[in-house]
Amino acid sequence: MPRIAYVNGRYVRHADAVVHVEDRGYQLADGVYEVCEIARGFIIDMKGHLDRLDRSLSELRMGWPLERSALELVMREVIRRNHVRNGLVYLQVTRGVSPRDHAFPTKPVRPALVVTAKRTDPRVSARKAEKGMAVITVPENRWERVDIKTIGLLPNVLARQAAVDAGAQEAWFVDPDGTVKEGASTNAWIVSKDGVLVTHPADFGILRGITRATVMRIAAEHDLKVEERHFTVEEAQAAREAFVTSATSVVTPVISIDGKAIANGHPGSIARSLREAFFAIAEKSPTC
Ligand code: PMP
Repeated sequence: MPRIAYVNGRYVRHADAVVHVEDRGYQLADGVYEVCEIARGFIIDMKGHLDRLDRSLSELRMGWPLERSALELVMREVIRRNHVRNGLVYLQVTRGVSPRDHAFPTKPVRPALVVTAKRTDPRVSARKAEKGMAVITVPENRWERVDIKTIGLLPNVLARQAAVDAGAQEAWFVDPDGTVKEGASTNAWIVSKDGVLVTHPADFGILRGITRATVMRIAAEHDLKVEERHFTVEEAQAAREAFVTSATSVVTPVISIDGKAIANGHPGSIARSLREAFFAIAEKSPTC
């Protein structure tokens, strides 16, 4: 059964899904994206992801490619046609197709939309979470507007490759003063000695993760204190626990940072219980 993608109004075989060479996403990374998790036949936190898409689009002065309700239908249809019960749905909106020029097109162009979905094996991500991940740190070298979820991800790509080259699974961007910002594709968290969950404030310098927000709701329901404040690599290495959050990794414990084991070097119990509580508390929209 072939995989199916949605490209600018058409459902096509994934292998044949192509965009124009003058798509501004392809030429200039002039576009935004979202990734939602699909778990047990539900799209997780779709509202949060589409609200963030709305913000990303308006920050870049781009319009919606379709009405929001129509986009939701397309997402469900792509999920249905690919028979995804557990996996990911990816959507990308670019400013559209126009002769290459840095400035916005002067003639109105329709934003371009691509939606794909893929199956993932929940046992594989469960095993990864049971093992925990190794993290390295890299100097922060991204632009200031990382709050916009743009497809311009070259620093993130290089950071993740540096992690892979070092035998790790994620890289955390760190400011010159040692402040941990976030991962290449995850938000970064630690649990302090007194059991407080600590993560970088989302008003500046990181992406406001949708999974991050859900974890805050879980924490509130479990009477766990959360502090949005700066923390350093040193503090993280001495923390009781560390973990990352994202739609793709949900909550995944971190067991080492730059080769230094966190606590006893095994996944922490708070990260584990946040992961276990996640599905019950996240917003769930049926895929069909
Ligand atoms: N930070 C960055 C840089 C990311 O790319 C992502 C993943 N989209 C996240 C954080 C986590 O965000 P979310 O929980 O919305 O997936």
